[in-house]
Amino acid sequence: MSEERQQGFDTLQVHAGAEPDPATGARNTPIYQSTAFVFRDSEHAANLFALKEVGYIYSRLTNPTIGALQNRMAALEGGAGAVACSSGHAAQIMALFPLMGPGLNIVASNRLYGGSVTQLTRTIQRFGWSTKFVDIDDPKAIEAAIDENTRAVYCESIANPGGHIADLRAIADVADAAGIPLIVDNTTATPYLCNPIAHGATLVTHSTTKYLTGNGSVTGGCVVDSGKFDWSASGKFPSLAAPEPAYNGLNFHEALGAMAFTFHSIAIGLRDLGMTMNPQGAHYTLMGIESLSLRMQKHVANAEKVAAWLEAHDAVDAVTYAGLKSSPYYDRVAKYCPKGASSLFTVALKAGHDGCVKFVDSLQLFSHVANLGDARSLVIHPASTTHSQLNDEQKAAAGAAPNIVRFSIGIEDADDLIADLDQALASI
Ligand SMILES: *Cc1c(COP(=O)(O)O)cnc(C)c1O
Repeated sequence: MSEERQQGFDTLQVHAGAEPDPATGARNTPIYQSTAFVFRDSEHAANLFALKEVGYIYSRLTNPTIGALQNRMAALEGGAGAVACSSGHAAQIMALFPLMGPGLNIVASNRLYGGSVTQLTRTIQRFGWSTKFVDIDDPKAIEAAIDENTRAVYCESIANPGGHIADLRAIADVADAAGIPLIVDNTTATPYLCNPIAHGATLVTHSTTKYLTGNGSVTGGCVVDSGKFDWSASGKFPSLAAPEPAYNGLNFHEALGAMAFTFHSIAIGLRDLGMTMNPQGAHYTLMGIESLSLRMQKHVANAEKVAAWLEAHDAVDAVTYAGLKSSPYYDRVAKYCPKGASSLFTVALKAGHDGCVKFVDSLQLFSHVANLGDARSLVIHPASTTHSQLNDEQKAAAGAAPNIVRFSIGIEDADDLIADLDQALASI
């Protein structure tokens, strides 16, 4: 095979980052269930700790099974490197950690997953970080919110749960002009449907818990770095581009170039924050990713059918699926996720809060759970669960008002899903 030939997504999802096991020839990537790895000699050990040689030391930092997942994720997103973490929320902290310090802030979309809003509003205050939430559809508002202490712009490619699609190119242009990175949570879209780096993102975060693993079996997260951001240009990112006291005064950008963020995340982030994925979890996620494109095609086809059926139903006020022509974001699907708008959307029921609760309780094939991106179809009432920590204004902005039900459409037969929805709607 010629070296320049770029392999397609379906090939990369099966092969990228993994080759037959060098020790045994095992075809599937083994679960390296080992905490530590034996050094060849003292010089080898010293080189590994000095980042002069790449290898395995201790599984809080690096592990071959997790490494395969990291390399596969970097390949699928078109990034230079990736770091896997224990959850999607861990990945978000890991994405911010090298950039931030006390007194610094980020500018974020006001349409984020409810857990992210809480994390970015309340919890990060404990680190002295803060977030300014803006209407991410308004580039002028993003620009106005950025000040000299802003270190990133943050949004979701397809927002959970409202199905809002971010105009990534326009947002990246504002971030570029300010000399700060754009971070995109690509959980709902997955790299099969959307590649934020191709539209100007610097960092991409994932909850691999969702579509990537694909069957609701393990929590995990990942940060992919484009490797394209110039951390040294502005003087705003000293932990990456000035001598870092937490790593013997190493200047990561000078020493590691495009891999600066990834090495920093492992050598300092995982070392000191410890939000590490485990090898067993990485194994399940690698297996899930092998069938990502096939599953996403079915998720999308089912979501299109179910959303159209719901939109035409008398009990329904509105459906937010961006794959419907009625969606204000329909045009952005063609630009940012031409293979489809994933399978997460919300439905506004005429029967209001109480009707939503009755409806959810009447569904039989759909599982009532706080998760998404499972092979099984899932449903939840966000206002009383995932978004219950938000105030009314935040709930409305996030598309989680009391009359809203969220669906994650699975890969079953669409007709069976519709039959279940039909009987549950009849019951209210
Ligand atoms: C679930 C989710 C997260 C958090 O991921 P965990 O793996 O649950 O920590 C972050 N962003 C989005 C869009 C999510 O759906």
